Amino acid sequence: MDLGKIKEERPYLADTLSLYERYSGFKALVYNLVEVRAYHDEKCYPPELIEPVFNAFSSSFEIPDESLAALKDAMRFGGINLSGLPAKITAASETFSENEHEGIIFLISKPYFLWLRHSRGLNKSFWTDGRCPVCRSIPSVASLDAEGKRQLYCSFCETPGYFSRLGCPVCLKSETCRINIIEAEDEAGFRVETCDSCGSYIKSITSPEILNKYPFDLADIVSLPLDIIAQEKGYRRSSPNTLGMKKML
Ligand SMILES: [Zn+2]
Ligand SMILES: [Zn+2]
Repeated sequence: MDLGKIKEERPYLADTLSLYERYSGFKALVYNLVEVRAYHDEKCYPPELIEPVFNAFSSSFEIPDESLAALKDAMRFGGINLSGLPAKITAASETFSENEHEGIIFLISKPYFLWLRHSRGLNKSFWTDGRCPVCRSIPSVASLDAEGKRQLYCSFCETPGYFSRLGCPVCLKSETCRINIIEAEDEAGFRVETCDSCGSYIKSITSPEILNKYPFDLADIVSLPLDIIAQEKGYRRSSPNTLGMKKML
């Protein structure tokens, strides 16, 4: 996957794709830090991993170590519960805005959720209640495969899974009259499904070719203009994209 080529095709995404590059570098660094291990009963990083995870984060995103000191302390002394993150981001910051702080915690939690996913092994299972079976997150993006099966994808732990063909995966209401479709000429292969029952929306990948070209998380990033369109219409994104972005306006 050539990010340079995607930047050429979509110059308006250059900054976001550069962030994705840093994020990929961070993931590569933390993968090499420790062996895959079970995090079932742990709500946060074990003490010996806090320093290496923060160092990898600080160098990958070029965020000075000092500005992360308060967050590191909160993590060390149990002030942050990563396992509860999909539902709620806790702890305020004096250094960063609320949005930035949420994004940083989301990104720094990535190794935790990836280990959680590896330890549970629930890839491609059925998401009965529309929530990720590994981490309970609301799906970040959906897709329809060639056979018309609907898949959901979790941006916290990167687990994909199947869900019923119709209905809103956020509030689980199934009246199709409350679901509307938005498409954009420049975003072929994608559409937005909005829900008038809960006010949220989810983007859906409607062409299998998109997933041959990009992994789920990158497909979510390249279709960012659709987030803007949906949010301009007043709909809410209920789960962040892989870079921790939820509010795009
Ligand atoms: Zn998950
Ligand atoms: Zn809904």
